[in-house]
Amino acid sequence: MRAALLLAAAALAAHGQPKPNFVIVFTDDQGYGDVGCYGSPDIRTPNLDRMAAEGVRFTSFYAQPFCGPSRAALMTGSYPPRVSLMFNHGPGSKTGIHPNEITLAEMLKGQGYRTMIVGKWHLGDRPEFLPTRHGFDQYFGLPYSNDMWPYHPLMPPKPNESPRMKAARERAELTGYAGQGAYLPPSREYPDLPLYSNEEVVELNPDLSKLTGLYTAKALEFIAANRDRPFFLYLAHNMPHVPLFPGPKFKGKSRRGLYGDVVEEIDWSVGQVLSKLKDLGLDEKTLVIFTSDNGPWLQYGIDGGSAGPLRDGKATHWEGGMRVPAIVRWPGQVPAGQTTSEIAANLDLLPTFARLAGATLPADRVIDGKDIWPVLQGAKSPHEAFYYFTGARAGEEAPLRAVRSGQWKLHLRTDGGPARGLALYDLQADPGEKFDVLARYPEVARKLEGMAQAFREELRRNVRPLGRL
Ligand code: MG
Repeated sequence: MRAALLLAAAALAAHGQPKPNFVIVFTDDQGYGDVGCYGSPDIRTPNLDRMAAEGVRFTSFYAQPFCGPSRAALMTGSYPPRVSLMFNHGPGSKTGIHPNEITLAEMLKGQGYRTMIVGKWHLGDRPEFLPTRHGFDQYFGLPYSNDMWPYHPLMPPKPNESPRMKAARERAELTGYAGQGAYLPPSREYPDLPLYSNEEVVELNPDLSKLTGLYTAKALEFIAANRDRPFFLYLAHNMPHVPLFPGPKFKGKSRRGLYGDVVEEIDWSVGQVLSKLKDLGLDEKTLVIFTSDNGPWLQYGIDGGSAGPLRDGKATHWEGGMRVPAIVRWPGQVPAGQTTSEIAANLDLLPTFARLAGATLPADRVIDGKDIWPVLQGAKSPHEAFYYFTGARAGEEAPLRAVRSGQWKLHLRTDGGPARGLALYDLQADPGEKFDVLARYPEVARKLEGMAQAFREELRRNVRPLGRL
């Protein structure tokens, strides 16, 4: 069965048969435990659960620790430090994704695809860095996070604040985030939040409770308009990143507060996309993947998600920070009802889609991602190791924090000097990273340490620049 599917895909690619459509549903700050089929006890996701029953569900799929770097990995097929995108871009930043990067959208555009991003971009908001300059025919959404706006709870208090601002402060108080520290310095105060249609700002500080519904409508419109040619839809929801705004039909409906409400709305949106594909007869011509950009933002208390059995969350290199839900569905091509624990990552989508669309990968640069089509057919991971980096400012070297190979994960000391293993975890026996087994398996630690050192050195030789104005 699996061999037959592999052959079918090879034949598809080799004989120039119609190229599949691609849909990526990318959520923001949704944790490993925030989907029904990943064990959520209180969030209902019938559409995602059905998607998993009809496709392949990953249990060791990696994003990056936070928003911007994760999108950089997805778009370039490379680790964020490889493309110098190790931090989140704020409004008006003079840097962004480099014009020489070949994004997933550009690659597919080169194969005749129509391309659209609906939702959050976060790789620079100056015109040079917008998605319309990086391979997307169309763009509708926010250029960065939905909390980068004048109603952020850390904006310095002003006299006669609006009801919107008061509500934001009350919510922050309730979730515990209000006491996080000082207010933003004047230089970092957020301007009005722009909603873009292509390169035009169509609204400032939009009503975020309409966002998921609006994004879904735009996505369905794009699918219908391109039913007769290959398309790539990147549906990058701003939810469930704080501040949480469910639509009126979803508010108060889940058993998990606002967080559950917005995830259930996203699940509804996934159902809409899948229904549209079915109605248009595109089900068997379309690969759909659902995944998240990073783990739950735990500092926001009840407004943050859950990493389920995994340790910690967003912004960390613990599994809870970087391991995310991922479900792939393509009837007739990807087997139904399968689960794989093989290592894969969002940076693998570029090489995988390249294979399926008949594109060749650029030969003049290192692409870290691997073609995971065989993994979808039940094969072992092509990754000998996966490397965990956390953030760094522009121009700084990103710290390599950990390395995983098979079931083993070594956390590294990165505070100067030669890297020394700090802790070793057996993720198969101990997915929560509770029991350090370094003393018992020193030879495993030495091997992983060697891999980390070699990768660090290779990376130093092959870093690509940040885009600068
Ligand atoms: Mg995020």
